[in-house]
Amino acid sequence: MRISLPDWLGPICRGTRWPGIRGAVALATVLLAVLFALEAVADKLTMKDGRVFEGRVISENDREIKIRTARATLTVPRDQVERIDKGTSTLQQRDEKLEALTLEKPEEYIDVASWLLGEGASVWDSDLFRRLCAIPVAQDPRLAVRANLVLGRGWEAHGRPEEAAEAWARAEAADPADPEARRLAASGRKTLESAARRRVEALRNALRAASNENFAEAVPVLRNSQGGPGATEAEASLGRSLDAMTTDLQRRIRCKPCEGTAQIECPLCKGTGALQCADCGGTGARSSFTTGREAKGTERKLCRACLGMGNALCTNCKAERDVIFNPAISMDLNGKKTVMGIRIHTTAGHEFDEIRKEINLRDLTTQTGGTDVTSVLVEKVNPGGKRNCPSCGGVKFDPPAQEVDFKALSAATGALDAKLTSGGSFLRDLQPQSRYDEKVIADRFWLYSNGRWVFSK
Ligand SMILES: [Zn+2]
Ligand SMILES: [Zn+2]
Ligand SMILES: [Zn+2]
Repeated sequence: MRISLPDWLGPICRGTRWPGIRGAVALATVLLAVLFALEAVADKLTMKDGRVFEGRVISENDREIKIRTARATLTVPRDQVERIDKGTSTLQQRDEKLEALTLEKPEEYIDVASWLLGEGASVWDSDLFRRLCAIPVAQDPRLAVRANLVLGRGWEAHGRPEEAAEAWARAEAADPADPEARRLAASGRKTLESAARRRVEALRNALRAASNENFAEAVPVLRNSQGGPGATEAEASLGRSLDAMTTDLQRRIRCKPCEGTAQIECPLCKGTGALQCADCGGTGARSSFTTGREAKGTERKLCRACLGMGNALCTNCKAERDVIFNPAISMDLNGKKTVMGIRIHTTAGHEFDEIRKEINLRDLTTQTGGTDVTSVLVEKVNPGGKRNCPSCGGVKFDPPAQEVDFKALSAATGALDAKLTSGGSFLRDLQPQSRYDEKVIADRFWLYSNGRWVFSK
């Protein structure tokens, strides 16, 4: 079998990241999204006489509406307009606002964040919001109270009360005299306090369940409690870390989903370690793109999505394998003529990059060069097809010889009971270390230009 890539693919392969199946799907999604955005972004005026104007409403008042269409700017009397559909032009507005930001006026970042918060789901983007609140504080510490109050309101409105409480604590730390910051920080503390209390209770109940040999009920909660409220007290009584305790208990129960083996069949690839190429149906060749010819005259062509392999390694279960490309005749590889098959070790998620690193697809596929690929051998996927069982976190059924230390378990339960009735605070350290979230802007992408954040010194 002689299969080759079409000539027109050569220049595409060279110098670009070959996207593979996932990439192709992602690209298609992006293209669709772009098309959709272009369409949705236009404002639409429907007139009472049935005419429709699409474009961008540039001004409107009680009497008239001005709309810029592709051809002209029209002014139409409002009383002749049946309805205005603004589409998602707020997205356009958002971009304009972002483009207008300058570091000389850091307070305007907060204004845009506030605006974003008021505009609703069509323009909401939590990463953007976070950035808009962090940059001005980094520029001017005096803005910390205002920025963090807006930030806290945003998290509160979007169902993230613990993050809201953190933001308010930052506001209060920036100016302990600010009444609004004090009020919100106090209410935020209450939120965090009760969330922390619930976690201590859950941990106490899990330890009690473990004392009653109900390990299956205890284990998932214990796993989640590592490093959380009450963990320090529990660990002091247990004499070991919660994680170690959890693993010990877990080895004594046979996890149902994995039958105690700690591994489950990967749900994505159904245990095969590879996903069939949707473009070629797993054959590795595509007739629809054919230009090359086999000796007997049958047209075959290397599938451009899977590079002739017929499938791609499943990235859900970290598979790997070797792929062997056999060129038709000798070819120039790093200055050496060779006719050997090229064996390439590939790992899931990097498969196509690794292949491209080894072979120049253009050399392999141009008709004139005569260096077509004669065959692509795909070796067994290894290990692949298995993943750590999510239910037991990949802990095998393997009961330890030692007994469970029930004394320590009930001591830990007692310690948490005491903590819960002591009336003390469950918050170890609410005091924020910084006036803003430094991680968010560690890249120093502080200015917005042409649709993205860009570096600023
Ligand atoms: Zn898989
Ligand atoms: Zn394919
Ligand atoms: Zn399991």
